[in-house]
This record gives sequence, C-alpha cells and structure tokens, in this order.
Amino acid sequence: MCVGTDFERADNFFAGPAVLPEPVLNRVQQEILNFKGMDLSVIEISHRSKQWEETVDQCIAKIRKILSVPDNYEILFLQGGASTQFGMIPMNIAPGGGPVQLVHTGVWSKKKLAELKIQGIEYDIVSSSEETNFDRIPQFDSSQLNPQAEYFHICSNETIGGIQWPDYPDTGDIPLVADMSSDIMSRPLDVEKFGLIYAGAQKNIGPSGVTLVIIREDLVNRVPDNVPTMLRYETHVKKNSMHNTPPVFPIWVVNMVMDWVIEQGGVEAMEKRNSEKAGMIYEVIDEDDYYQGAAVPNSRSAVNITFRLPDDELGKKFVEQAAERKMLGLKGHRSVGGCRASMYNSLPVEAAARLAEFMREFKRQNG
Ligand SMILES: *Cc1c(COP(=O)(O)O)cnc(C)c1O
Repeated sequence: MCVGTDFERADNFFAGPAVLPEPVLNRVQQEILNFKGMDLSVIEISHRSKQWEETVDQCIAKIRKILSVPDNYEILFLQGGASTQFGMIPMNIAPGGGPVQLVHTGVWSKKKLAELKIQGIEYDIVSSSEETNFDRIPQFDSSQLNPQAEYFHICSNETIGGIQWPDYPDTGDIPLVADMSSDIMSRPLDVEKFGLIYAGAQKNIGPSGVTLVIIREDLVNRVPDNVPTMLRYETHVKKNSMHNTPPVFPIWVVNMVMDWVIEQGGVEAMEKRNSEKAGMIYEVIDEDDYYQGAAVPNSRSAVNITFRLPDDELGKKFVEQAAERKMLGLKGHRSVGGCRASMYNSLPVEAAARLAEFMREFKRQNG
C-alpha cells in the first residue's frame, strides 16, 4: 500500500508503461511539491537552475555507475521515445547510406527496418526468425559480417514476442547498436561491446517521456551537416542533454529509480530477482502442456513471458479472472495472441509468486 492511500496496489504485468518501485512512487508523492527547498515544484522551475542541473548530473553519474559505463561513452536523455531512435541512429552514424546489418527478431526490429527503408539506407538482414513466427533469437555466422557495414543492429529483448539475446554477438570493428528498451538494467552489461545503446525509459527505468542513449564518443561526430539540430547526438552531448527544455518530470523520477536500483544491489541483484521471478512462471509452463510458451527455451526472455492456453476462450477467461484478483496487464499483444506477463525490475517477487499460484489454480479448475 502506498503511503497515505487506502488501496492495495494491483500486481502490474503491463508491458509499458510499466511497474515502478513502490518506494519511488512514495518519494514522488512526498517530494513533488517542494524541489530541494526551493518552495516550488520540480515541474515548475527553470531547467537552467543549479538545483536541476545537479539532478541531471547525479542521474547520469548513477547510470554510469550502475552499468559501469566507460568514460569514452556519453549518456544522453532524449525525447521522442525509442521509436525516434530507429531513424535518428542512421541519420547520425550511417552517413554513407549504409549498409546497415541487422538481425530480425520481431515487431521491434521490423519497425527499425521500416525506418531504414524510409531513408533509403542500404540494409542487410543477416538472420531472421520470421519463419518460426519469431519464437527465437536466430543464429548467425560471423562470416556474414560485412566490414563495410556502418553499424550492426539488434533488439536485445523483443518485448512482444518474449525473446531475449542470451549473450551478445561480437561484431568486431562494426559498431554494435542495440535497442534495449525492455531489458536495460535487467542484467549486467558489457557496454564496451556496443557503439550505441538506446532505451525508452518506460519499461525498466522510469516513466515515459525520456529515452536513454549511451553512445561511444567516436560515433558522435560522424553526423553530416544536413541533419537538423535536435536530431544530432552532437547537440545533446555539447549541452548535457539540455539544448532545449528537457522532460523534467521523467528524468526526475528516473533519478529516484536509479537510487532504488543501487539500494537493491545494482544490476547483479536485478538479474537475480528477474531470473527468480521468470523461473517461477516458466516452471508452471514447463510442468505439462496446459500452458504453451511462445518462445523456445534458450531464447526465453526473463522480463516478458509469452504463453498460450489450450484455446482462445480459456485465454480470455484467464485474463479476466486474473484481473479480478488484481493481476493486471496479462493480455498478449495481438500479433502473438495468448498471454504475456511483463515482469520488469521493479515487479515484486511476491507478484510473480501470486501469478504462478493463480496459473496452477486456473489449470486445476479448467484443465
Ligand atoms: C516499447 C519499445 C519500443 C518503443 O518505445 P517508445 O519509447 O514507445 O518509442 C521500442 N523498442 C522496444 C524493444 C520496446 O519494447
């Protein structure tokens, strides 16, 4: 129960925007009216104030610490969501018009691909799991790497299909670019393997409205002159993400979520929690044929678990009865069907345990 409220919070399995840590929600409630003793709210003060600049710097420092981001990488807060990054990345780091290589893993990599097509960027799909309805991270052979490629793109976790890269490919000198919107900070990360990492905040690290970008220094200045000011990483690097008015509220909350992650023990602790939670649900799926996992076991996501019931009617009933027990957001995306339990960092372990228990009970009653 949140401080000062009279309701029990529902268990939040929504895919995004998604669950936030209860202690953070309490802090938001307590601190929203008076920012750092200014006697004004954080959402009504100047983003040029010393107090605000300090918050941004602290938030960046915490992210650097949590993900062990090396000094030759910049950390940026941008707007427009991960979706803007699909097109902004090639504008900045593929000035030759490609080729860009990518692995096709589902809905999100398809959207990335669509943005390359719009800009007429040459691309090469090195591997795809489309034939098996994106139920796995496809294998690819490093002999397929094209040394001419301007970058190599992956989606580390396909939020909709529920598949996640178990470990990342080695792309040598080709900058590896990853959409980590749904699994950033859910497990330890070797940032040095990547040229650029991006993530909308609203799954693992905060409210919607801000996008985290981590970019290696040498990629910042590749941008051609005809790219608009706001779409150049260079602009945001020079101005510490404050070229224009930043999304103050979400950054402010991200900063609190970072405190929470650090208090919990960092990304190692997040990974442990997430695999414990996911393990409870996959155990039920694997018990027998009643629930069918949509992903093959070695590509299973620890944060988005996709499964089907014996038929669609039962699937609907499952989602309805779960909602009656205050377990919300379990309906699968229409492209995959069935159910999906999104269990990001801040979903409590108890919520996963309640879901596992409900799944077993539902099976007993409807088997
Ligand atoms: C949610 C999501 C996006 C879209 O993010 P926006 O911030 O809404 O643009 C992109 N990629 C992945 C993997 C996602 O999960």
